[in-house]
Amino acid sequence: MTHYFIDDQWNLIKGPLSVDEISKLANEYQDKYFPGQKLTVSIQVTSSAQFHGAGCYEPAAKRIWLAERVTEFENTLKIALLHEMIHANMHARGCDADPNHEHPPEFKAEVKRLMALGAYDDLL
Ligand SMILES: [Zn+2]
Repeated sequence: MTHYFIDDQWNLIKGPLSVDEISKLANEYQDKYFPGQKLTVSIQVTSSAQFHGAGCYEPAAKRIWLAERVTEFENTLKIALLHEMIHANMHARGCDADPNHEHPPEFKAEVKRLMALGAYDDLL
């Protein structure tokens, strides 16, 4: 569940998203932005200092890794999740050879497609 905090200016601050909440979000994104495509991925949050960047997709394990440090920044987390979901969906379709190091034209086309669908409207 989501935790809320009151900061010293009396603003309501939302706590970091849990893995359950992120997984729910991923399911919503899948239905909305990748309709008709079946995707089975797990979400894992890591606090490892060796983990650089915001997110990463591990094709062999069908796992999306997200850095714990981004879970408290909801928009950053959503952008990272959408990015990794594009990798995961491309991998599921068999057209992303090196999901973590390459952003081929198909990837960039997917970002544009999601942008046109409004996926980033409230995030950027
Ligand atoms: Zn990438």
